[in-house]
Amino acid sequence: MSCHRLLGLVALDLALGVATLEQGQFWHITDHHFDPTYWSEMRSCNDKVPVRGIYGDYWCDSPWRLVNDSVAAMANVKRDVDFILWTGDNVAHIKNQFLNQSLNLEITEKITDALKAEFPGVPVYGIMGNHDWFPANQFPVQQAFLYNATAELWRDWIGDNQQIENFKKGGFYTIRTTKGLRIVGLNTVFYYAADKLTTNLTDPAGQFAWLEEVLQNATNVGEKVMLTAHVPPGIKVPGKVQWFYERFNTKFLDLVQKYADIIPGMYFGHDHADGLKLLLKKDGTPGIPMFIAPSVTPWRYKSGTESDDPHNPAVRLVKYDQKTGEALDFIQYYMNLTESNEANASSWKVAYDASKAYQVKDLSAASVSMAVKQMSKDKYVLDKYIRFNTVLANGNTTVNECDATCRAEYICSFTHHEGEKFNSCVTGLMKGVLIG
Ligand SMILES: [Zn+2]
Ligand SMILES: [Zn+2]
Repeated sequence: MSCHRLLGLVALDLALGVATLEQGQFWHITDHHFDPTYWSEMRSCNDKVPVRGIYGDYWCDSPWRLVNDSVAAMANVKRDVDFILWTGDNVAHIKNQFLNQSLNLEITEKITDALKAEFPGVPVYGIMGNHDWFPANQFPVQQAFLYNATAELWRDWIGDNQQIENFKKGGFYTIRTTKGLRIVGLNTVFYYAADKLTTNLTDPAGQFAWLEEVLQNATNVGEKVMLTAHVPPGIKVPGKVQWFYERFNTKFLDLVQKYADIIPGMYFGHDHADGLKLLLKKDGTPGIPMFIAPSVTPWRYKSGTESDDPHNPAVRLVKYDQKTGEALDFIQYYMNLTESNEANASSWKVAYDASKAYQVKDLSAASVSMAVKQMSKDKYVLDKYIRFNTVLANGNTTVNECDATCRAEYICSFTHHEGEKFNSCVTGLMKGVLIG
């Protein structure tokens, strides 16, 4: 394009008074949990599996075929994305006695290679999950083998030397896209109550201070910041689990809330279920949407007689504004595990399109706020969310089994991210239900 023509277009934009929307796309993938023993010792399986499906089983973590097939399915749908957010938990739910540092690294390396092969030239912004460390969950606040090795493995994607150094200190870093959007990868496993090395610390590896500095600098130069991390803050429902230590949950939420105007979205994994939340600003207006992507692994949590619902393997394609980082929409793809195993061939389909499902024009904080309000008052819309939560694996069973308390918990989890506030929200709604 000639210089004159370019200037002409800019002039036209200015004359019309419209900002040109530059729409891009990226994948958000998470929680692959590859189990190399799926065809042998089945170390991740949580229950008896008489016949193993070639793509996996709801009681087990992913065989390699499933991981590889998910990467191929992504490339089939859209290979030329701007980047890929990869929010960790590459290693299966296998007891520490059967794992070691090199095995964990090998698993991360295998998925890294698969992504590089299918997406040449596409940067992948990866973050380690609690299962990627050895021993699981115990992320230290100083240099260690797995930080160093993972930083080196992802050197091409992270790029900048200073950021490689940050990763080696604690698994966090920031990069700036060619369009000027800042992406921050955080290690929130430090705040996860299962990390016993951070129990008595106030700011593990200085990550909070670093994040505040990054956000302040971004404010000063007019950048928008997309945050990505493995463990999400807030309360996961069903189950009412707060993953973070109480004080870290509050500290994290307070810090990002202060910079809500420059944070268009936060992207997490770890829950395995599909989740949507909204952090409100101090004055109660919409602040930051939180997108929790469902996992690739279909593995069901089980402890004694308690277990989570089954869910299908999933990958998510996000449409976003390349300059502001605002999410415009996402398309949730999934594999019907039962069908694929029966057919001996994988079938990846669209589970839903977020803007259509929630009837909003985009996924800005204001639109997510409208979606959340709709779900809170319209049983039909909340039913959809509950089906999406298990990636359509449990049909209507989950919806039918969700009583008034269960519904109140879903509704309160959208905007109440601290234990006490969440509980009083549920109590309030239940009283309303009883009186009404
Ligand atoms: Zn996980
Ligand atoms: Zn996790």
